Amino acid sequence: MKLPVHKYGDPVLRKKGVPVTEVTPEIHQLIADMFETMEAHHGVGLAAQQVGHALQLTVIDIRPIEDRPSTLELDGKPADPNSIMPLVLLNPVVKAVGAPEAGSEGCLSFPKLYGEIERPESVDVTATNEKGEALAFRCGGLLARCIQHETDHLHGILFIDRMNRETKEELKPDLDELQAATKAALKKK
Ligand code: ZN
Repeated sequence: MKLPVHKYGDPVLRKKGVPVTEVTPEIHQLIADMFETMEAHHGVGLAAQQVGHALQLTVIDIRPIEDRPSTLELDGKPADPNSIMPLVLLNPVVKAVGAPEAGSEGCLSFPKLYGEIERPESVDVTATNEKGEALAFRCGGLLARCIQHETDHLHGILFIDRMNRETKEELKPDLDELQAATKAALKKK
């Protein structure tokens, strides 16, 4: 089932997610619904906060974006990033490896808004998947950017928090408008 995406101005986006310690049938359903929601909006990543749940859970599938490369290392050996797609990360921990690099980002909670964000080019990731298996890999490029963006969501951090002052200043009128519209809609409920 496609779920409504919570937009900037909704307090749930600022909540730190609680760890997912057991993959219950409800969590399985939530994962399936999150993939359906993400695909419907042509996104490549979606965090639980964006569908109203403050949990350490994100779903990722970078395959729709073909013009921005990714790298993957499993057990120290190069691997095809598509081989781990679609990806479910529970309780992910991300450690920076590469030097910061600027790249364009958008977010389903900020429709039509994009900005250049600096993030480490590659990261080491540990997490649990939907089967309860431990995951550990190193990745770079778009996949690393996406995982960092989504892991931020799980801690209540938004991509606007990582924009430089000029970019945020430029987007400010749109951000203010979006925030006001979200708050007005929440009040009506
Ligand atoms: Zn986002």
